[in-house]
This record gives sequence, structure tokens and C-alpha cells, in this order.
Amino acid sequence: MSASTTQNVSITPDDAADIVARLNTTFATGRTKPLAWRKAQLRALRRLLVEQADAFTAALHADLAKNATETYTTEIGSTINEIDHTLRRLDRWLRPRRVPVPLGLRPGRARTVREPLGTVLIIAPWNYPLHLALAPLVGAIAAGNTAVVKPSELAPATSAALAHWLPRTLDTQAVTVVEGAVPETTALLEQRFDHVFYTGNGKVGRIVMTAAARHLTPVTLELGGKSPAVVEPGTDLATAARRIAWGKFMNAGQTCVAPDYVLAIGETATAIEPHLSTAIREMYGTDPAQSADYGRIVNERHFDRLTGLLGDGRTVTGGEHDRATRYLAPTVLADVDPDAPVMSEEIFGPVLPIIRVPDLDAAIAFITARDKPLSLYAFTATATAKRRLASETSSGALSFGAPIAHLGVPGLPFGGVGESGLGRYHGEYSIDTFSHTRAVLDKPLLADTFRLAYPPFTPSKSRLL
Ligand code: NAD
Repeated sequence: MSASTTQNVSITPDDAADIVARLNTTFATGRTKPLAWRKAQLRALRRLLVEQADAFTAALHADLAKNATETYTTEIGSTINEIDHTLRRLDRWLRPRRVPVPLGLRPGRARTVREPLGTVLIIAPWNYPLHLALAPLVGAIAAGNTAVVKPSELAPATSAALAHWLPRTLDTQAVTVVEGAVPETTALLEQRFDHVFYTGNGKVGRIVMTAAARHLTPVTLELGGKSPAVVEPGTDLATAARRIAWGKFMNAGQTCVAPDYVLAIGETATAIEPHLSTAIREMYGTDPAQSADYGRIVNERHFDRLTGLLGDGRTVTGGEHDRATRYLAPTVLADVDPDAPVMSEEIFGPVLPIIRVPDLDAAIAFITARDKPLSLYAFTATATAKRRLASETSSGALSFGAPIAHLGVPGLPFGGVGESGLGRYHGEYSIDTFSHTRAVLDKPLLADTFRLAYPPFTPSKSRLL
């Protein structure tokens, strides 16, 4: 059995049932409910991230050739920030909230109370394999649940590091790591959980939701999609290009909120080309293969898929690739047909197509004709464009002037809409996701003010009601 300490050994449905039964027993004892327990777990997790930062950095380098600084900001530091934000506000978030009682029901007091759900399953992907396993776990623990964490098998070093360190750090009665791939995840999904939190692609999202439906288990689906970066004339193209290149080529484009394509209005389509080339050169040098700051594609399947897209437009910059090292240069494609394969699926790699549209109307029509994206980015100098994009489109998030940075605002929710996901988390939104908000009414028995409501409904009572 691969739970907690060993790696890549298959678990059977019976093993999965045992794990869930054990966690359910823990939950039933009330062990995970006290605030003190929750905070102690979060502090322990924080300590682990600080003390074992080098071990996690090495694992992420082995899996994705991630640069140490990028690993710190997007994986380790971002998780520490999530813990700190939660620890600072948890008391307040968990305080019962008074709700006014209408005159006809007084005297009485009403309140809402957030209570933990029970045992939750967290299924993580490979692209930010540490943060996307731990950030949901922070919410699950903070809300007082027990949890199974299933890291991605496509990031095996990080998966092994989590399986090694979490049992040495957290309460093993309450948190279990199960490593493995499809058979292990399938075995887990056969069990009845109180919530399933899945991050990954929409195809598997449907499998997860179908499995959860059998138990009427609520799900959060953190999915992906094609996030556009609209560029309007009049914007500072050099800065826009730098920010788009930064968001796109971080982690070699394998970021769910990366700008998927540039939706360039009018002449910006050609005007932005040299700025993108310059930005890439400034960040990764003339040969990004030599840059310690540039990552690699996760596996050969994704490498082959991505190199298959390189012919879908005129190469502005990049295109060089090497299958042996899974290197694919930061690539910009221009003159791309909107019906080309590169525009039909989420790219999830370092290929940036530029699509030209004549005006803002056409840009909005282009966006709304497609699935609702996880993020919509816009670089514009006009308040009208901001207002119209906000009111005439829909997306998980909307960010003007900066891709990805909205994830750094701890009070903002993170989640998609439509094909890009279901539900949201981070901070207080995680508490909502992993809690049930219970309605509580407390009405004194003395002075039975309900008497008027009891049958028989005499004419005089009916008049008063
Ligand atoms: P992945 O292949 O690592 O899969 C994610 C998880 O699903 C893994 O733990 C895997 O074991 C499990 N899984 C795979 N196939 C399964 C099956 N048939 N049944 C049950 N479980 C299965 O990751 P991925 O899906 O390639 O991740 C990339 C996608 O995730 C992209 O679409 C990206 O946009 C999206 N993503 C979204 C977010 C977000 O927060 N919204 C973050 C990262 C990635």
C-alpha cells in the first residue's frame, strides 16, 4: 500500500476503503475540530516548507527543471503566504455570524456556523505539484477536516517528497498521502468522501464529478482553458509584452493561468512582435536552452503534442526544440488562423500565438464565442474597454495590466467558471469550500409566540397572520 510513506505501489479499493474508514474514525472523535489543532497543523506545515525548502526545490527541479527562485515564489512561498493569511484570520472566519430575526419570529436568535465536512480528497496535478497539493490542504485543515492528498504521478519526485514529509509533519491520524496514477485515483474515487477537490484537465474533471455523483459528494474542479491576453492600441506595448512573456514562459508555459494567446486589436498584432522577441531575449538570453531560469516540458507526450503545433503560424521567435532534453524554446507565432489546432485546445506550453482582430467588438465576440476562460487579461489604456470587457465577457478572473498576479492577492478567490472549473478557493473561500455553513435558530420556549400559527386557523387568527 502506498499510503503515507512508500511510493508508486498500487493501492487496491480495499486499501482505499481502509484509509477512508480510518480518517472517518478520526473525524468522528472530534480531533480535527478544535482551532488549536488546526493552527498547530498549519504551523507545522509552514515549518516543513521553511526547513525542507531545499528538498522540495530539488524535487521540483528534478520534475520540471524549475529554477529555485521561481520555485520559491510560485510553489513554496505562495503556500507559506496562504498559511500566513489563513492563520491571521482563521478565528474571525470561524466565528459564528449573527443573522437578524424578523419581528414575527422574535424573541429568538439566529446565526450561521461553519462546520467541517468530514474527510476530503485532494487530487493534484503535475505543473505546480507542491502548491496545488498543499494550498487546498491548508483550506481543508483550516476548516477542520481530515484529508487524503493524491499528488500527481507525472511529478514523481515532488510526489515522493510529499509522501515522505507530510506524515513526518502532520497528524497521521488525520492526513494521508496516497501516491499513484489512474488505478490508485480510481480506487480512491470509489470511496465516499465528503468533498473531492480536483485540479487538472476537464476530461478527468468529468470522471471525478461522475464518480463523486454516485455518493452525492460535492466537488471543486480547478480546470484550465485558453486564457486570452487582449492588447489594445494605445497601451504601452513594451511593458505589455514583458508581462505577457513573463506570465507565458514561466514554468515553460505549463501554468493554468498563463496567457494562452494574444488577442491583438488592429495594428498591435504586428507592433507587439518585436517587443515580445525583446522581452524573451531579456529574460532568457539569446539561447534559452542555456538559461537556468527556463524550465522543461514535463514529458515526451506533451513535448510531441507541443512541437506538433509549431507549424500553425509564422515563427516570430523560438521554435527550436530538443526531444532528448524536452526543451522547447519560448515561441511566438503570428498570422495564426483561429481555426488552427493551436487555437482549438489549451496550449499548456511555451507557444504563444498572436490572433489579430479588427476592434474591441471583434475581440469580445471572439472571447464569448469560446469556452469561458480561467483568466481574461487585458492591456488597455481606456476605461471603456475595461468596462466593456468586465460586463460583456465572463471568466474565472479578470486582470488588467498583469497576468497571473491576481493569484498573489490573498483575499481574491481562485477558480474557474463553465469549462474552466467549478467552485473556488484561497483564504476564506477555501473555508467556504471545505465547510458546511449551518443555519442555527435559537428560540426560547417561554412566551409561546407561535400560538397564533397553530391550527385551528380561526378567522381572527387568519386576519392577524
Ligand atoms: P495530471 O495529468 O497530473 O492529472 C491531474 C490529476 O488527475 C493527477 O493526480 C492524476 O493522477 C489524476 N488523473 C489523471 N487521469 C485520471 C483518471 N482517468 N481518473 C482519475 N484521476 C486521474 O494533470 P493535467 O490534467 O495534465 O493538468 C493540466 C491541466 O490542469 C491543464 O488543463 C491546466 O490548465 C489544469 N490546471 C488547472 C489549475 C487550476 O488551478 N485551475 C492548476 C493547474 C493545472
